[in-house]
Amino acid sequence: MGGSILIVEDELVTQRLIAASLERAGYKVTRAPSVAQAEAAIREVIPDLMLLDWILPGTTGVSFLRQLRNDRRTKQIPVIMLTGRTEEFDKVTGLEAGADDYLTKPFSHRELLARIKAVVRRRAPLLGDEPVEFGDLKLDPAAHRVSTRAGKINLWATEFRLLHFLMTHPDRVYSRGQLLDEVWGDHVFVEDRTVDVHIRRLRQALQPGGHQKMIETVRGAGYCFRANPD
Ligand code: CA
Repeated sequence: MGGSILIVEDELVTQRLIAASLERAGYKVTRAPSVAQAEAAIREVIPDLMLLDWILPGTTGVSFLRQLRNDRRTKQIPVIMLTGRTEEFDKVTGLEAGADDYLTKPFSHRELLARIKAVVRRRAPLLGDEPVEFGDLKLDPAAHRVSTRAGKINLWATEFRLLHFLMTHPDRVYSRGQLLDEVWGDHVFVEDRTVDVHIRRLRQALQPGGHQKMIETVRGAGYCFRANPD
């Protein structure tokens, strides 16, 4: 399924095992052995999910978590706390600080992946898993598939999410800023122009079946998905 995961863990053996396990599952992994390095990594790019060790040298995992939750840029990052069996992990404190879930070490590869998927599913923007269709344009989120009478349309992840959002909110005008919030979320800091680039690519992909007409540019306002263009 992919996505980027930041592992904040000072025990290097554990860190390496988790990273290998996640990479095998198709995730892009960044590792940080301390809060300071985690902060540096987050300044570069906001991960799709973070695995955060409870006991870290210097700043503890839980105070780092509170710090993340108090920052507009990072408060949405899904976080799974990692705890040792012997550590005094206070579940309530962890969850109150904003953890989405926690895992007690050692855990299996399967358990780790299952928890990650569950958290990601819970946190996913409310676009849903229901197929949407207008005319012969069909989008199936579960299968990550877009098709028309003419066949399958290949889209990159962002274009797919953009089309999914537009198709689930037809005939409403969204500004570039709104689309950034809805489709990109808090995950990236990109310029409004980025939206235009993705709209252009999406239109190109939809062109063979003539469906690019469904994505209308509303001058001075933004974009709108027309259920019945013309
Ligand atoms: Ca530790």
